[in-house]
Amino acid sequence: MIGTPSSDTVHVIGAGLAGSEAAWQAAEGGCRVVLHEMRPVRMTEAHRTDGLAELVCSNSFRSDDAANNAVGLLHAEMRRLGSLIMRAADANQVPAGGALAVDREGFSAAVTRALHEHPRIEIDRGEITGLPPADWNNVIVATGPLTSAPLAEAIRQLTDENALAFFDAIAPIVHRDTIDMSIAWFQSRYDKVGPGGTGADYINCPLTREQYDAFVDALLAGEKTEFKEWETSTPYFDGCLPIEVMAERGRETLRHGPMKPVGLTNPHDPTVKPYAIVQLRQDNKLGTLYNMVGFQTKLKYGPQQQIFRTIPGLEKAEFARLGGLHRNTFLNSPKLLDTQLRLRAEPRLRFAGQMTGCEGYVESASIGLIAGLYAAADARGTSLESPPATTALGALLGHITGGHIETIEQGSRSFQPMNVNFGLFPLLASPPTKKPDGSRLRGNEKTVAKRQAMSVRALSDLDRWISDHLRVPAAA
Ligand SMILES: Cc1cc2nc3c(=O)[nH]c(=O)nc-3n(C[C@H](O)[C@H](O)[C@H](O)COP(=O)(O)OP(=O)(O)OC[C@H]3O[C@@H](n4cnc5c(N)ncnc54)[C@H](O)[C@@H]3O)c2cc1C
Repeated sequence: MIGTPSSDTVHVIGAGLAGSEAAWQAAEGGCRVVLHEMRPVRMTEAHRTDGLAELVCSNSFRSDDAANNAVGLLHAEMRRLGSLIMRAADANQVPAGGALAVDREGFSAAVTRALHEHPRIEIDRGEITGLPPADWNNVIVATGPLTSAPLAEAIRQLTDENALAFFDAIAPIVHRDTIDMSIAWFQSRYDKVGPGGTGADYINCPLTREQYDAFVDALLAGEKTEFKEWETSTPYFDGCLPIEVMAERGRETLRHGPMKPVGLTNPHDPTVKPYAIVQLRQDNKLGTLYNMVGFQTKLKYGPQQQIFRTIPGLEKAEFARLGGLHRNTFLNSPKLLDTQLRLRAEPRLRFAGQMTGCEGYVESASIGLIAGLYAAADARGTSLESPPATTALGALLGHITGGHIETIEQGSRSFQPMNVNFGLFPLLASPPTKKPDGSRLRGNEKTVAKRQAMSVRALSDLDRWISDHLRVPAAA
């Protein structure tokens, strides 16, 4: 079916992770596409450039392990579906242990170039300030967590649902040559070698018990950014908690989270086990910038610099970017969207990306991918069956369009954004109980074997779905 020309135009609003992928898939599906992006005419609170698919915070696409990790599996599925985002990520990766991390500028430039050069895509730089014109009958709205206010308000009125905002956070970035390597050292946790990595991809800073205690005290006492009035009643998303909020939850919380000291040995003092460790991950291809993993914060800039410079190895750290906080915008999708991601109240509008209630770069791009395929099918006057629920893409779609059960408590609605995870997948009909040698699986071995079996099932079901419903270019 791919390659069939169509006179129907697909309008994609927002050229972030989801919109860029959606435009690519619809164009590859034979449609003419107009991709509307407001930057640089109008910027968001977090974007810095006019590049398409700009990464606003971390440069990581997280685990690339398709056998054991749900987001790694999603990577593999997207590659099989000819994803532009994954192609650009693979071509611009930087070392990051078991994760797929990218050079953010090279990545964004590759996506921008591919979309510019596509013969069926036109890029229109301008803000869409209300509901799209009535004659746009095949629209994908992918304007993300920082959707501009006039469009967000128009959608709110149409859906009669209050947009829910919550905090998301940016981790600080440090200039590599200001880190004291006579104290810090390079090592990936458990020396794990990932794509483009060496097993020594992170910079580690060790803390003694006294240093850790003093650090936690300083976080608790440090002056925080005041909440704006419209932000005060919004809850944090648990996957992106500010470091000082984690510290407030208990003195040991950070040692079991971003500062856990496991899988690492300090070569400067190999016999002494650090009480806590701060990890920094390479942020650009040149290797000149490193980000403080998990250190998103709402501390004010002055206290941030002061407190982070008490970390051994960072005493003279210079920050290329300090941490910050941003809002998010997403729909109550299980109620508002149909299984094809169309707004029930106005089906010409389809939604994609973080607005639908997924979380993360990869997840947003994957929902853009399927929205692009759905839109191309609509343009041809056909309908595309949804991917099986046993696949990572199908499982995530299930969360968005129906997997969630609404709770009955009063207060904020219960549907919340989610990263892809194995908890969203249907159970295996017969979970593995034995190893290949016939001996019984024990403890954690069962969980590992179950995940691996789910991954095998997902890829085989996806391949069947592709051959039944799509003809795609050869897998990347
Ligand atoms: C501050 C912050 C930090 C984040 N950090 C991470 C992270 O580290 N890792 C991670 O995996 N995820 C992170 N996320 C979550 C999320 O996955 C990303 O925001 C992701 O980019 C979402 O993809 P998207 O395509 O839905 O939106 P975006 O990538 O934001 O793309 C939306 C696009 O729409 C444009 N736009 C908005 N309104 C209009 C309009 N009216 N007309 C035209 N264009 C418009 C914007 O300029 C933007 O280019 C973060 C989110 C935020 C807000």
